[in-house]
Amino acid sequence: MTNDKLLPEMVEIWQQTLNWQPTVQQQTQFQRLYELILEGNSQLNLTRITDPQEFWEKHLWDSLRGIASLLSANFYSASLALIDIGTGAGFPGVPVAITVPNCTITLLDSTRKKIIFLDNILSKLALTNAKTLVGRAEEIGQHPQHRQAYDIALIRAVGAASVCAEYTLPLLKQGGLAIIYRGNWTKEETTDLQNAVNQLGGVIELIEKFTTPLSVSIRHCLYVRKVANTALNFPRAVGVPSQKPL
Ligand code: SAH
Repeated sequence: MTNDKLLPEMVEIWQQTLNWQPTVQQQTQFQRLYELILEGNSQLNLTRITDPQEFWEKHLWDSLRGIASLLSANFYSASLALIDIGTGAGFPGVPVAITVPNCTITLLDSTRKKIIFLDNILSKLALTNAKTLVGRAEEIGQHPQHRQAYDIALIRAVGAASVCAEYTLPLLKQGGLAIIYRGNWTKEETTDLQNAVNQLGGVIELIEKFTTPLSVSIRHCLYVRKVANTALNFPRAVGVPSQKPL
């Protein structure tokens, strides 16, 4: 590996923005993850983000920014069950697995070849707290083993927010939290999301707006709390949530 493929450490930015810093082992895992994604990219077209600074910001920092409020002593000591829906090349789920080793995380994607790639990543990074699952969120959300089984559901770049709500809320235990990662966000979208979460047993707890630390791009994280059971008709059949959003 040449130096141009060395990830920056950004210790001060981690500290300032998330009040957290990676350990030496975590930094090594981030670097190895980056190299494995670059290797996999030649065959699988995983991401267009290959520059080290950009990878650090858009894949590592962005993934962890969503769980910023949880990067506290409490979170470290709790062994929560997380799921990342539509994880793709493993974002935000793999950086989260590296960062919170006491929690377990399920990486769900409907594309088998991405999941096979992720299995290889997990074994190369020795990440025993993460496991993969091939399937559609609409099916997994109706599966007794997965429905109401998770404390936190993460979802980034999978669809409209109301679709994300229908994918995440059925999988959460009551009191659990959906974290929906977004770029831009409008008031109209809040209205749509509000309407969807009402039907799914959730409430919008917080909409956080922030900028990324290097390129100063706009991001939003939506935090939706599950406060009531989700009716059994949700999630609807495969394809329906995205074709007819709530
Ligand atoms: N979360 C990643 C990947 C986003 S691309 C990131 O932010 O980089 C969207 C991914 O979601 C794709 O890998 C696609 O296969 C998966 N996906 C889309 N709809 C899905 C569904 N209904 N159930 C499970 N995975 C889905």
